[in-house]
Parts: sequence; structure tokens; C-alpha cells
Amino acid sequence: MNIKHISAKLNGYPHSLTSEKSSHDQQFVELLAERKKMQEQLERLALSHQAAQIESFEWNIQKNQVFSSPEEKALKEIKGKRSFKTFDAWMKTVYPLDRERVKNVLQSAIDSHAEFDCEFRVFWSDKSIHWVSSKGKVFYEKKGSPIKLLGINRNIDAQKKREQNSDFLSEASKIFSSSLDYQQTLESVANLAVPAIADWCNVDIIQNGKAQQVAIAHRNPKKAKFAKEFRKRYPIDVNEPTGIAEVLRTGEPRLYPYITDEMLVAAAKTKKQLQITRKIGLTSVMMAPIFSQKETIGVITFVTSETKKHYDQSDLQMAGELASRASSAIENARHYKEAQDAVRLRDDFISVASHELKTPVTSVKMFTQVLKKHSEKKNDRQALSYLSKMNRQLNKLTELIVDLLNVRKIQTGEMELHNALFKFEKPIKEAVEMLQQIYTKYTITVIGKSRCVIRGDKERIGQVVTNLISNAIKYSPSANEVKVYIGTKGKYARLSVKDFGIGISKEHLDKVFERFYRINDTITDKTFPGLGIGLYISYEIVRRHGGKLWVESEIGKGSTFHVAIPFEKRKRGKK
Ligand code: ADP
Repeated sequence: MNIKHISAKLNGYPHSLTSEKSSHDQQFVELLAERKKMQEQLERLALSHQAAQIESFEWNIQKNQVFSSPEEKALKEIKGKRSFKTFDAWMKTVYPLDRERVKNVLQSAIDSHAEFDCEFRVFWSDKSIHWVSSKGKVFYEKKGSPIKLLGINRNIDAQKKREQNSDFLSEASKIFSSSLDYQQTLESVANLAVPAIADWCNVDIIQNGKAQQVAIAHRNPKKAKFAKEFRKRYPIDVNEPTGIAEVLRTGEPRLYPYITDEMLVAAAKTKKQLQITRKIGLTSVMMAPIFSQKETIGVITFVTSETKKHYDQSDLQMAGELASRASSAIENARHYKEAQDAVRLRDDFISVASHELKTPVTSVKMFTQVLKKHSEKKNDRQALSYLSKMNRQLNKLTELIVDLLNVRKIQTGEMELHNALFKFEKPIKEAVEMLQQIYTKYTITVIGKSRCVIRGDKERIGQVVTNLISNAIKYSPSANEVKVYIGTKGKYARLSVKDFGIGISKEHLDKVFERFYRINDTITDKTFPGLGIGLYISYEIVRRHGGKLWVESEIGKGSTFHVAIPFEKRKRGKK
């Protein structure tokens, strides 16, 4: 016996039963007991649905009637009331953007005889929007036409909020890691927060002892402008007992789920201010502190107004997490700026120092020449020997100064290159010859030919070759051999300098071409003096010739530095 059956019977019975037969009495008593039992069961079911935020629904397809929570409807039906909606009327309770999708899901469940499972938004009677997860199935007549669709809608607002908050946090993290300009980053985050989780988002940072509004985003851009002006007119007094000032002072987040008129009255300093804040219409506010080196340096404020959404503890937790990520981003930006400032200071110092050193070193060199002539006249062999050593050291010093000046020129884009045609082999052979004379302990072997003509600066290419071979010798204290390979590959003239020295470990391979990079190893540092700029300059020279410089190496076995420079022309012939 179903609800309608019982109901119909009950409604048909007269309430005075005194003249009826006893069998009827008996039947009536049974019916009453059955009705009571069923009523209790329905009530229990309705209660448990309420507790679990579940609503069941039935769409009678043939009659075009939709009942939601039929237990409650059934209870009403027993009491003689009846209410249902047509399918189209029910559809109006679904959020407009989701309607088409819901219709399609239901239709395809009907067509395919499959169960359905979907999530969509609905309006409650107070017009607020809520998420439901809907599951159910369709029932058919024997001949196959659908009779009704039964299902359950479960409220998933909390789950959706968690998802939304976590999506927001991961998007915000992406923004935080994409830039080191923290002001711009905070603006982007405020823009991301609106409208995803707030109608209005505001970031204040303490600057010169005052809370400065560094970012503001509003659902309505006109209101953002208004909010800026409002803040200008009513700046935050850091001694105020509540609001942003309180968060700055205590470093504790604050949640105001409901903003009441009493709160506005208490916070307003003037009648005009109260008037304006009333007009803005605040619904809910939460604020989270931003830290730097354990000090509160700012506050992120989230406000809802138009959407009438009330923040809760889970929102506050998300805001706290966001503020902590913002804190790390600010910290990183600060470290980056400090590092940049230090690098700038170093570069400026090097640039000034090398400039200042150039003149005295040049005059000392000139005077050694004068002294040399004097000593030659007097045939003072000892003085000549000292002068020759002095000259060698002066040459080294000049080279260092020139290299430092070159670094500066590369940075400022002032390094000029000659643009002439020359044979690729020429600067290589000149450099090998010169270095072989200096480093007699080592055998520098040239292998191969290229027959290429290069366009560029012969002296600078010579500088690269000299640097690579000098390094090959410097970093091979236990070897006595350096091999220089010349050849071509495709459109490139190729040079490789191979040594059998200490080698370079993998993690340093790319970094050795960076400015002032030296492998951070105390033994290497002490044994091999240098500034870490030779490879940087060489790399830039090769790059400016449209070429590439790279290295292959194995620790303890040696390194091979490769140079590839596009050639202009190539003589045919045997290699
Ligand atoms: P410098 O030799 O003056 O330190 P470079 O710019 O020429 O500067 O080289 C940078 C770093 O690369 C060196 O400090 C050294 O650690 C490493 N390096 C360069 N050439 C070699 C090589 N042939 N073998 C091993 N390490 C090398």
C-alpha cells in the first residue's frame, strides 16, 4: 500500500464511526496505526535528509510534475495538502548558467537508461545560490516509455568552497612565483580574489610607519576608485582598536562574518564616514596579516557586499594561507632586491676601480721601459732581470684590468667588434704559437683544418682561443698536453680545446660561463687564481659572432671546450 492509497482511504472515511460494523472498526484501527507508523517513518526520513543536507526529488515525466523532498510532500499529502511544480517551473530554481547542462544530463539519462550524476547550482527561496550534487535514475513502463525519474540532491556548498579556495590558492601561488615585483604581485592577487572569493579585496603594507593601500580590486571598477578615495580621506590610524590597525598590531587574523550597523557606528569617526560605509553595504569581512622577518608588515582584507556571502572559519583559514604565501613572496622579492643591489654595488666598484687602476699601471709600465733603457746602457744585468719580472707582472695586471673593463663593456653593450673577413685558422695558430712559447712544459697540438673564412673580429677570436688554451693549461696541473681540434660542421667552423686536467662536475657545466663564476671549491680556489670572467667574455665574443661556446667534461679526466662560429665562405679541397 502506498502513501496515496492510504491517504485516499483516510480522506474518504467519515470521522464518526459509531454506527459502523465492528469489522470496519477493526480495519479502521489498523489503518490508523499504519498511518501513524508511516507518518513517523516519513518524519524520520525527512529529519535525516535535513541533517545530511539531502533532498530527494521525483519527476513524474508523464504528468510533468516535480516533487522535491517527497517525504515532506507525502507528509503534507497525508494532511490533505498537495504541492508540486511543473518541470519548467522547477528548472527556474536551477542557476541559469547550469540549466542547459542539467537538461542535457537528465535527457541523456532518459535516453540511455543510465543513472545520472551531476553537480549544479540552485536558488534557495531567499535567492541565495547553492551547489548540489545530484544522483538518480529513471523508471520505465514495460513498453519502454519513461514514467518517472527519482533522485537525490546533496548540498555540496562546503566542498565547492574548499575546491574554490584551493583553486584560488594555487592560482595565487603561480602569481607569487611569477614575479619578484611584490607590489605588482599583490595587485594581481587582489584582482584574482575578486570576484572569485570577494567583492572587494584590499592590501595594505606598512610604509614609513603608515598603512599604505598598495592594492585594491573591486567587483565594480568605479567602486575601486571610490574605495581609494575613501581611504585617502579616512587613512588608517594604527592605534584604532579594531580592523586593519588591530591586525597590524596583534598579527592575528580577524573574521567578521556579519557586519552589523552597530559595528559601522562604532568604527566611524564622523557622521559622513558612517553615511558612506552604510552606503557601501558591507556583508562580511576577513583580514589576514602579512609578515616579514616575523614582523607584521601588512594586511590582506577581503570584503563581501553585493553577493551577501558570509565568510566562515574555513575562509579565514584560506585567507591566512594566502597571506603567508604573500609573505614568502615579499620576502623573496626583498632578498632578490638586496642581492641585485649587492651585485650592482660590486659592478660599480669594479668598473670604477679598473678605470682608476688603468692610468697608474700605464705610467708604471712606461717608467719600467725608461729604466730598462738606463739599465741596458749601464749593462746592469741584475736590474734588467728584475725589470723583466716586473714587466711580466705588469702585463698580467694590465690583462686583468682590460678584462674587467671588457666585462663592463659587455654589460653596457659598449663592446665593439671589428667586422672584417679573416681565416679561421689564423688567430688560432697565432694564439697557439704565443702560448707554446710561454708554457714550454706543455705540448699544444693542433689537429685538423677548416679552410674557413670568418667575418668578425680576429683579435677577439684570438682572445677566446688564448683564454681556452690558458685555462686548459691552468686547470691541468698534472698533465702536459693540450689538443686543439679545428674543423667544420654544417655551416659552422669548429674549434675544440681538449685538456686532461681536473675536469668540471655536471652541476657547474653551464654556470662556468656566468660572470664572476668560479667553482666553489676551496682547494680549486686556492690552487688556481682567477676572477671567473675569462669564459664569460669568451662566451659573449662567440655569441656576438653568431656562434656558440659550450663544454663537455668529466671530473678528474679533463674538459673539452667547443666553439662553433658560422663561416662566411670555405675553400674546397682536402681536409
Ligand atoms: P678563471 O679561470 O679566471 O677563474 P674563467 O671564466 O676562465 O675564470 O673560468 C671560470 C671557472 O671555470 C674557473 O674558475 C674554473 O673553475 C672553471 N674552468 C674553466 N676552464 C676550465 C678547465 N679547462 N678545466 C677545469 N675547470 C675549468
